[in-house]
Amino acid sequence: MPSGGSRRARPVRSEFGLIRRLQARAAKPDRQVALGIGDDTAVIKTSSTEWTLITTDLLAEGVHFDLATSSYEDIGYRAAIANLSDIAAMGGTPRFMLVSIAIPSTCSTTEIHQLYRGMMQASAPYRVCLVGGDTSASKHGLFLSITLTGVVRPGRALLRSGAKVGDRLYVTGTLGDSRAGLDLLSSRRRRTLPAAHARFLLARHHRPSARIAEGQWLVKQGLAGAAIDLSDGLTGDLRHICEDSDVGAEILGGSLPISAACQAYAAAYRLSPQEIALQGGEDYELLFTVPAGQQARFERLVKKTPFHCTCIGTITPKRSGLRLRTEQGTTSPLPLTSYEHFRRPS
Ligand code: ADP
Ligand code: MG
Repeated sequence: MPSGGSRRARPVRSEFGLIRRLQARAAKPDRQVALGIGDDTAVIKTSSTEWTLITTDLLAEGVHFDLATSSYEDIGYRAAIANLSDIAAMGGTPRFMLVSIAIPSTCSTTEIHQLYRGMMQASAPYRVCLVGGDTSASKHGLFLSITLTGVVRPGRALLRSGAKVGDRLYVTGTLGDSRAGLDLLSSRRRRTLPAAHARFLLARHHRPSARIAEGQWLVKQGLAGAAIDLSDGLTGDLRHICEDSDVGAEILGGSLPISAACQAYAAAYRLSPQEIALQGGEDYELLFTVPAGQQARFERLVKKTPFHCTCIGTITPKRSGLRLRTEQGTTSPLPLTSYEHFRRPS
């Protein structure tokens, strides 16, 4: 078909399918690129003592946040955490930040300052330095994009591709809180949940943590095979580890760490806490693997830290796929229910 012909443009149907195709387009291999498209950050061999990590995340109004339920400060905070969490997933130390914003006419200078206050609050504990960005007007809502660099010791970054059959799967913190918090915001459910639980879940949604110290500790111990941060939900992010490591996985449903608040939320609204934990996005916890032979040592070492890590399953051969084992011992395929852009409602 000649250019300028009437061929109908095909809509994008799969975020991850598109990324895979973009990966094939990536620039010619560069000797300095240790890792390009496909992991939580790119890894660049910048010196013999330190490699640089680079990540970027875009937040779009109406897709990632709703100004009716989130303050500008909270939006800025979450945007920074999304990037910090990718550095955490590689076991790195965050360094420099660039911020680009497209501002609609409805947005005031004060609100933009609030957005930045949130970003700075999230990144201040790591002494991240804001070094640049870009500013534009927007005709369709607020857009916020952060690019963050970090550093890691050469060859030590935690990758999605390092899982081996038999490895134990671990997760930090608790799962599903952010999703439960989001549900509370978008419904009137908050009123019937004890106030302390509601506050906890809303805080976990608006002010999540990036597990930087945990990621750095995992690198230092040298015990983690693969790692990813949980931004899209456990099932989806586990799938990335499995695809990139060429393995399968079995999750023990009864072992998923679920907070008392999330349990109470699920009980109050007759939802399955396990489903919320499996599907809930934006927990920003770390999912990582530990070789079975190192499990006892890992458990001993982690007890000496303030970190909360739970074994939630095992890496299996690829042919077994991703499975969920119930407490009664039955297994079933793990449904792909995590967040993906462009997916049509079924
Ligand atoms: P995360 O959820 O950890 O931020 P993503 O799923 O967004 O990771 O991205 C996975 C990989 O694809 C990353 O390496 C990211 O840099 C890359 N990627 C995502 N979108 C694009 C794009 N439009 N062009 C090039 N690379 C992209
Ligand atoms: Mg990530």
